[in-house]
Amino acid sequence: MVTLTIDGRTIQAEEGQTILEVARNNGIQIPTLCYNEALESYGACRLCLVEIVRDSRSRMVTSCLYPIEEGLVVKTASERVISNRKMLAQLLLARCSKEKLLQDLAKEMGIEKSSFKSEYLENNDCILCALCVRTCQEVVGVSAISLVNRGTKREAAPPFLESASACIGCGSCVYVCPTKCIKMEDVGDTRIIHRWNVEFKLKKCKVCGNYFAPEAQLEYIRKKWELPEGFFDTCPNCR
Ligand code: SF4
Ligand code: SF4
Repeated sequence: MVTLTIDGRTIQAEEGQTILEVARNNGIQIPTLCYNEALESYGACRLCLVEIVRDSRSRMVTSCLYPIEEGLVVKTASERVISNRKMLAQLLLARCSKEKLLQDLAKEMGIEKSSFKSEYLENNDCILCALCVRTCQEVVGVSAISLVNRGTKREAAPPFLESASACIGCGSCVYVCPTKCIKMEDVGDTRIIHRWNVEFKLKKCKVCGNYFAPEAQLEYIRKKWELPEGFFDTCPNCR
């Protein structure tokens, strides 16, 4: 076990955890936008910044990435932390000024409007959290999309900004996206994921006749788990 102090509270926690995990397990809230406990931490939004003190010296670290240490002193809401967090929230708001998620987050911090100007980015709907990219890679195992370009042009996109040819249409990225900017619709026998420029034929259940999942996704699962041909001829409800 490791003993550390967070916001003046002495806490014992298992070695190998991050500051963010320990804080949350002890009811101490630290804001995040790119963290998901099912995925590897990434530290993209940096909103989870905290101040740590060691040998009378303090510095800022990203709490989702920083492992706890014996004797560590952590401040999650010091003046320095709040000021850095506000600046990060303003930068995010400048990029995606119309995103309710960011507007609410900024409001909670007492920010009405970003003081940063970003004329060509202010209508962006992607906060670059990479949750879609990491879910596709780590959970689905496909890596159909990635973060591409640099600076103001950075975005989550398919290779060469064309269509995500490796995509299987599972929709996991759609569900995980915090700003809901990856639009997906099932129209008749077709699933469309607009942001990745892809369309999939949906499988029709042999029993009830309902379309229930993209054929590409079912075939991917069937091969991965070495299931017999025809395993997905019926939907989960009719099985
Ligand atoms: S829908 Fe495509 S891009 Fe999204 S997680 Fe599934 S395979 Fe990846
Ligand atoms: S598309 Fe959504 S999930 Fe992907 S990086 Fe942008 S905001 Fe995050």
